Amino acid sequence: MDWITNCLSSFSKEELGVVAVVFAFLIGCAFGSAILCAFMRIGKGQTWARGRSKCDVCNKELTWDQLIPIISFIIHGGRCKMCQTKLSWIYPVSEFIAGVIFAGIIYMFFH
Ligand SMILES: [Zn+2]
Repeated sequence: MDWITNCLSSFSKEELGVVAVVFAFLIGCAFGSAILCAFMRIGKGQTWARGRSKCDVCNKELTWDQLIPIISFIIHGGRCKMCQTKLSWIYPVSEFIAGVIFAGIIYMFFH
């Protein structure tokens, strides 16, 4: 485990803080996405943890490039890749908010 210690000690506390906050943001985005998806499924009376996400309109399973929080929304112009239906802004916004909350918690740990 020495290489981890060596690797970490080559960074300053501030640099590690930035890396940790960025990671926390990304994890928060993924978390926000998963929570929103679970709530949507419960709302529709489906099992919340089953299968991949599907498009509400064309009912096709989303591909990996549509499952990256925020990034997918931007690269596909906020539309479903298959049917071109506009997706709700609530997806990227809630992902972003969850990311900010996670990053904020980690930021407080480092400051
Ligand atoms: Zn679709």
